[in-house]
Amino acid sequence: MSREQKQQAISSIKGTRDILPEEARLWQMVEESARKIFELYGFRELRAPIIEPTELFEKGTGASSDIVTKEMYTFTDKGGRSVTLRPEYTPSVVRAIIEHRLDLQPQPLRFYYIGPMFRYDRPQKGRYRQFHQLDVEVFGEKDPAVDAEIIEMAHRLLQAVGVEGVTILVNSVGCPTCRPAYGQALREAAARVKDRLCPDCQRKVEINPLRIFDCKLENCQAAARTFPLINDFLCEDCREHFRQFLIYLDLYHLSYKIEPTLVRGLDYYTKTTFELVVENFGAQNAIGGGGRYDNMVKEFGGPDLCGTGLAIGLERLLLVSKIEAIPQSYAYFAHRGEQAKQASLLAASYFRSCGIPCLLEFKERSLKSHFSRANKIAATWVVIIGEDELAAGEFQLKDMLRSKQYKGSLEQLARIIIDKESSRKSALSKE
Ligand code: AMP
Repeated sequence: MSREQKQQAISSIKGTRDILPEEARLWQMVEESARKIFELYGFRELRAPIIEPTELFEKGTGASSDIVTKEMYTFTDKGGRSVTLRPEYTPSVVRAIIEHRLDLQPQPLRFYYIGPMFRYDRPQKGRYRQFHQLDVEVFGEKDPAVDAEIIEMAHRLLQAVGVEGVTILVNSVGCPTCRPAYGQALREAAARVKDRLCPDCQRKVEINPLRIFDCKLENCQAAARTFPLINDFLCEDCREHFRQFLIYLDLYHLSYKIEPTLVRGLDYYTKTTFELVVENFGAQNAIGGGGRYDNMVKEFGGPDLCGTGLAIGLERLLLVSKIEAIPQSYAYFAHRGEQAKQASLLAASYFRSCGIPCLLEFKERSLKSHFSRANKIAATWVVIIGEDELAAGEFQLKDMLRSKQYKGSLEQLARIIIDKESSRKSALSKE
């Protein structure tokens, strides 16, 4: 490409990226594992729109959260409405429950979703403006056993996709009964060190001092280490909920660390919060997190339905996953002459109806050139269709991986491919 052409070429928007076919294969594998595991736990998919009314996140995610104050992709549409590309999924599910009266269905409700989220953040490794989350939510289950079950499910998924060295951080952030007293104590402590805080955190002292714990600046973190901790303020109900939650984590033999400053970046959490972090992974070490939000449905004008959930970032999950793509296996057709080309079209159509992926190329080539082409595109099977084969109704099949050759009708060859592929796949999955 000339320099001029390069200057004219349009690139993707900063913080977004293309997922090219080889990488997309890994995504498909992780998504497939996630879907299977979520369904094992009774979750069903709920797909909500990517754009939502802006007030959904102002109200749900929280007006004082960094996401809402700094990171939303908000614009006015042609009808003059303020719309936002969703920065997270939970408020959309809550809206959908109320809009479709899903609360009338037998509870608890279990939903999952896999898709893109948008945050206008500073892009870096593991942090994008369009990123993807695996999201699960349970509604109508107060028991802390479900919080532990969600973490056990996340742990199962991490194992399935080869992620090691994950630490589970847990905390309780209290509820509207106990948090006001804590908020007051925190505000007083923060006010005493206000001049040591960054301008952003100075603003948080009055609005929401809990958010100071989220700040990554060393000065603010040092100041935050002197603040009172929520654990000392929990009401009896929250204390008991947290105690039982830990008992259930122990039951699953999940090792965890209690992190009293884990408040997470969203305003709506009550009681349980947790985060899954990977060792040696720099600043973006959180691959997932979640918690309980017992009041959001009610605050949205819906019924009194508690909620708890988890979101895992797919980009970060893939960065730490050891999963390897199994390359797609294709049958390639080496044909000579118009009649053989037409027979290949029909043969490929028949193979595909048997579930065998096929690659057809239409250019007239010598047999030798067909084979070098098949090698280049890593075809695992080559079906040779020439005039002699057409006359005899018998075709040759070459197994490119094992350099073996077979002969037979199309039905016989399809059967051979299906049998060999299924034993190859089960050998690969045992490795
Ligand atoms: P949060 O909704 O902020 O709790 O995020 C849940 C998970 O989504 C995080 O643990 C990350 O794995 C992922 N995540 C959040 N923001 C981003 C981002 N800007 N880029 C990539 N992944 C993200």
